[in-house]
Formats: sequence, structure tokens, C-alpha cells
Amino acid sequence: MNSPVCRIVGHKLPQGSDKYLELRDVKIDGTGQKHARLFAKCERCGESYHVANVLLPTQKLQPDIEGKFSQINTILWEVQEHMREIKGISGRLEAQTE
Ligand SMILES: [Zn+2]
Repeated sequence: MNSPVCRIVGHKLPQGSDKYLELRDVKIDGTGQKHARLFAKCERCGESYHVANVLLPTQKLQPDIEGKFSQINTILWEVQEHMREIKGISGRLEAQTE
């Protein structure tokens, strides 16, 4: 602690809407929960210090990804169906022209 006041009363949290805390050390535990540590820069002495631990919202990406894969598979299946139709038509056309 650079300031004698900070040594006595502790660091001073940043004040004002233009100030930010810093998120560091994001980790994911075995359950998928994200943890991080919040750091602040002391308004008085400028030292960066640990304020609190935080739990971050977990994004449920899996259903979204599965939904997208399902959509892609449906589109691929439709494309394959159209390819079969096109091959069938072109095969009939070839047979007619021979
Ligand atoms: Zn301080």
C-alpha cells in the first residue's frame, strides 16, 4: 500500500460512472460455472487490489448449437433431395434425346 491512509483504512474503491473494475482470472469449474476475480485501482494510491470474487453468467450454447446443426442437416437433406430430382430429370432428358 503506497498511501499511509490506505494502510490504516484500506484502499478506496473507484467512484463515479466513468470508473471500471477489472475482471481477471476467469476459470470454469467442473459444473460449467464460470468464476472470476474483480480488481479495482485504488482512488487514493493507484494500487490494483482484489475486491471480490464473482460468478459469471453461464451461456447455454449447447441447445443453440444443436438447433443450428439440426437446421443445417435439414437444409443438406433438402439439397440432396433436389440433387436427386435434378439427376432424375437430366437422366430422363438424356434418355429422350438418345
Ligand atoms: Zn490505496
